Amino acid sequence: KKTAYRNFPMVPRVVFGAGCFSQLGEILLPMRKNSDAPFIFLIDDFFENKDFTSRIPVMFNDEIVFVSAEEEPKTEQVDALVSHINGKYDEKPSGIIGIGGGTLLDLAKAVAILLNNKGLAKDYQGWDLVSRPSLYHVGIPTISGTGAEVSRTTVLLGPDKKLGINSDYTTYDQVILDPDLTKTVPKDQWFYTGMDCFIHCVESLEGTYLNAFSQSYGEKALELCKEVFLDDVSEEESRDKLMMASWHGGMSIAYSQVGVAHAMSYGLSYLLGIKHGIGNCLVFQHLQDFYPRGVELFKQMLQKHQIQLPQGVCANLTQDDFDTLINVALGMEALWENALGPDWKTIMTPQRLQALYEKI
Ligand code: NAD
Ligand code: ZN
Repeated sequence: KKTAYRNFPMVPRVVFGAGCFSQLGEILLPMRKNSDAPFIFLIDDFFENKDFTSRIPVMFNDEIVFVSAEEEPKTEQVDALVSHINGKYDEKPSGIIGIGGGTLLDLAKAVAILLNNKGLAKDYQGWDLVSRPSLYHVGIPTISGTGAEVSRTTVLLGPDKKLGINSDYTTYDQVILDPDLTKTVPKDQWFYTGMDCFIHCVESLEGTYLNAFSQSYGEKALELCKEVFLDDVSEEESRDKLMMASWHGGMSIAYSQVGVAHAMSYGLSYLLGIKHGIGNCLVFQHLQDFYPRGVELFKQMLQKHQIQLPQGVCANLTQDDFDTLINVALGMEALWENALGPDWKTIMTPQRLQALYEKI
């Protein structure tokens, strides 16, 4: 038996239900420090000029900042938002509210950390480098799958690495799960981000780090993913279930790890800017040697929803490019150890990894 088990934070408060976003105002009210300490709303710019904006409970000098999710969040972007906020207000804000997909949820977590910790975002990429509690922060997902609403990490692209700020202070203080907010998600994006959740489950359940805690969440999330992507459930039910699948999938990896698809997808993201959800799908389709049952289900899901994945993504890469992909991917040691066990280096050689990338 292990001598020390990890003591993980969880989101202490969560509301779930169609339409529950309208409770945000009353939830924020007691958290407001005073009329000069604003709430800052970081919102996916998909919602700019949409009816939704009239539902955001702004008061006093609260500020709405629309942010594009075109690219995954960067450490510099976090630093720029923090200096904007510090420069503009005399008081620390009352809190940060992130509204959007994994991109906005991660950005808001990082801004909340950096508003209470000195230095730059890149200084905190890693494990447990944050020393002071973050500012009060609320996460409101508008697309389901990443589990970023529940996880203790915020994944950022820094000057020399893509790595999370993993800390006890990263986790949200409050989450609002309103499945209605996901109504407008385009079908392909729904699939890619949903598959992030499905792949979290497979990688957690098939990994060597598996334990009863992770398994209990992973199995539930996998069951929900199968219902959403392979059964014929109503749209409303599907939105509800995928939102809860995301939550359970995130909880499952908290106490274990992801695996091969995530390690390889990080490489694609770092070199080619390919986004997390689609990157995972591009990789996962070729992982039948590692996750035979998962890949079979994945192919059924692709077929059922008529999703065409891009092809030839790695066709024109140079050997230098492949070396970068391989270095980034193999750098994710814990993911490989979870996927393949302590002898992973003899199983996943650079040659074998390159052959997998060449198929993409
Ligand atoms: P995303 O946030 O990048 O958004 C994808 C697209 O969907 C964007 O174009 C966005 O504008 C659009 N969108 C979002 N909500 C919408 C809505 N309701 N209607 C219409 N369009 C909408 O996508 P994602 O897949 O949720 O997040 C990916 C990010 O999450 C990556 O940066 C990844 O690193 C991160 N991630 C974080 C964790 C974590 O634990 N912190 C886990 C997995 C992934
Ligand atoms: Zn993921």
